[in-house]
Amino acid sequence: MAVSDPGPASAHTRAAHAHAAGELPFEDREDFEDAKRGLVATTPNLVVRDARGRAVWDMDSYAFLDSREEPPETIHPSLWRMAQLNGTHGLFEVAPGIYQVRGYDISNMTLVEGRTGVIVVDPLISTECAAAALGLYRAHRGERKVSAVIYTHSHVDHFGGVKGVIDEEAVHAGEVPVWAPAGFLEHAVSENVLAGTAMARRAGYMFAPSLAREPRGQVDAGIGKTTSSGSITLIPPTHDVTFTGQEEEIDGVRIRFQLVPDSEAPAEMNFGFPNLGVLCVAENAVHCMHNVLTPRGAAVRDALRWSKYLAEAIELFGRHTDVMFAQHHWPRWGKERVIEHLARHRDMYRYLHDQTLRLANRGLTPTEIAAAVRLPPSLERTWSCRGYYGTVSHNVRAVYQRYLGFFDGNPAHLDPHPPVEAGRRYVELAGGIEALLANARHAFAKGDYRWVAEVCSHAVFAEPTHADARELHAQALEQLGYQAESAVWRNLYLVGAHELRDGAPTTPTGRRVASADVARALSIEQLWDAMGARLDGPRAWDVQIVLAWNFTDVHEQWTVSVENGALSSIRGRLADDADATITLTRTAFDAVLLGEGDGALFASGAIAVAGDGEKLGEFLGLLDDGDPAFAIVTP
Ligand SMILES: [Zn+2]
Repeated sequence: MAVSDPGPASAHTRAAHAHAAGELPFEDREDFEDAKRGLVATTPNLVVRDARGRAVWDMDSYAFLDSREEPPETIHPSLWRMAQLNGTHGLFEVAPGIYQVRGYDISNMTLVEGRTGVIVVDPLISTECAAAALGLYRAHRGERKVSAVIYTHSHVDHFGGVKGVIDEEAVHAGEVPVWAPAGFLEHAVSENVLAGTAMARRAGYMFAPSLAREPRGQVDAGIGKTTSSGSITLIPPTHDVTFTGQEEEIDGVRIRFQLVPDSEAPAEMNFGFPNLGVLCVAENAVHCMHNVLTPRGAAVRDALRWSKYLAEAIELFGRHTDVMFAQHHWPRWGKERVIEHLARHRDMYRYLHDQTLRLANRGLTPTEIAAAVRLPPSLERTWSCRGYYGTVSHNVRAVYQRYLGFFDGNPAHLDPHPPVEAGRRYVELAGGIEALLANARHAFAKGDYRWVAEVCSHAVFAEPTHADARELHAQALEQLGYQAESAVWRNLYLVGAHELRDGAPTTPTGRRVASADVARALSIEQLWDAMGARLDGPRAWDVQIVLAWNFTDVHEQWTVSVENGALSSIRGRLADDADATITLTRTAFDAVLLGEGDGALFASGAIAVAGDGEKLGEFLGLLDDGDPAFAIVTP
C-alpha cells in the first residue's frame, strides 16, 4: 500500500464504534420507515449530467452504502445509519397534492399541486439537478406547468437551480410569481461576497468533493449526500413575506407564513397549509442537530431566536398539523410526533444556548464548555438530535462567540505566536522533532488522536517537508475522521489527511456561487464593499485616487476613493475633484466584473472615461484576486 492511501481503523477506533453501537437506540427504525413512506418512483443508478456530459450529481457512487448491513470499521455506526437514510432518493408523496423529490441534490425540492399547475418549493443548487427533479415529478404526475416558486431561505441549495424549472422571461411577464422571505435577495448574495473565496475553500474541506466515495472516504454530508456541482442561477423574488401570520393564496393553495429571520439563515420562513394539515419548517427542524456556526465559516446564528421560533411554530401550527416536512431529510407524520419533534429541537437549541451562558458566567472558557456540555439523555438518545452536521462541541463554542467573541479572557491567549513560529518553539521545547514525534507515537498507541493532531500540527508547521511528521499527523486525523459521527467533521479530518499526503486539493472546492446571476443581483454598494475587501492595503498605503462613477441606466452616482490604504464610497455624488469620471451602465460594469470583453466595452463607448484614465487602471491594479486553493493543515 502506498503511503498516500487511507489506512484501516485502529483498535481504538473499532472500540469507540462498538461503544457507540451499544449506547444508541439502533432498534428504533422509524426514520427508515418515514424515509421510504409515500415512494412513487425512483431512478436506479441516478447520475445527473450537464450539457457537456460532466456528472454534476452522482448517487450511483454511493452504491456501496446499500451493499452491506453492518457498518464498515472506518465509519461511525451512527453516521453509517444517516448515510444510508440520505441515500434514499426518488419522488415521494408527502400528503395528497404535496410531493418531494429527495436525493437529487443535498436539499429537497417540494412540489405543491395548485389549481393551474405546480408550485416548486426550493429548486436545489444546480439547474441540471432541478430540471431532473422536476422531470421525475412530471413523469409520474403529468406535464403540469410551474405556477409559482417559493424560496424558503437565502442559502444557495434552496435557490441556485431556479432556471432549471422556470424562465426569467415568464417571471418578468408576471406569469410566475416568485415568493421569498423579506431580506432574501440581499442575504442570498451578500453571505458569499466579502469572505466568499475563503468560505468556498473551507466548504471544499467540509463537503469533500476531492475525496473518493468509499468507506475510507466521503460518505455523507449530514443534511444530504453532498453538494451538486452544476450551474447556479438566481431569479430575484417578485413577492415578499414580511410578517408572521401573513396568508396568501398561491395558485389556489392557501398558505400561512411564519417569518423566522436569523434562525438557520438570515432570511428564512416556515409555512403551513391550513386546508391540508401540512407544515413546512424550511431548514429549522431537520433530522439532525444543525449548525449554530457552520464550519465552512459564516456569521454566527442566534440559537435563542431559533429556539423561540420553534416554540412559536408549535403554537401557530401544531394543533392543525398532521404531517411536517423540511427541505432536507424526510417528513414526519402524526400530530403528536410532529409536536414532539418540534419541541425537541426547540429544547435542543435552547439547551445549547442557555448552558453555554450558564457555564461562561461561571468562568468556563469555550474549550472547557465544549468538554462539559452534553445534551440531556432524552435528547441525546433522539436520532434527530444527533450531531450529524452541527455538533455540541462546535455549537457551544459558537454561542460563546456570539456573546463574548474569539477571546477567552486569558491574557496568555491575547497575542499568541502564529502557527509556524509557535510550531518551531514547540519542536524546540520537545527537544527536537524526533523527540516530539516519539511523544506523538506514544499518544497514538494509546488512542489519544486529538493530542497527536495537536503536536503533529506544530511539527508540520515547523518542518513542512518532514515526511514522518506529515504521515503521523495524517494517520491521527484519519482516525479522528473515522470516529466522527458528524459527516462534516469526518470530511474536514479526511481532507486534512489528504492534504498532508497528497498536497492541498485543487479539484472542486465545494459551493461556487460567483455565478453571473448572483453578481448581477448585488447592489452597487455591495460591489464597492467587495472591492474594498480585495484592496491590497500595503500597496495602497501611499496612493490617493478619487473616481466618480455615473451609472446612466440605474441612475446612481458614486464617488469612490482610496486613501490611507482604505477604500470608501459615497452615494449620490460625483466629486468635483475626481481624478477621472467614468460614465457607464450597470450592465457594462457587470460585464467587466464577470470578465466578459472589457476592452470592447471601452472601445465601443459603453464605458467612457473622462480625465486621468490611468488612475482607473491603477485602482483596478490594486485589487487582490485571493487564492481559491489555499492550504489549510500545512503552511
Ligand atoms: Zn439547505
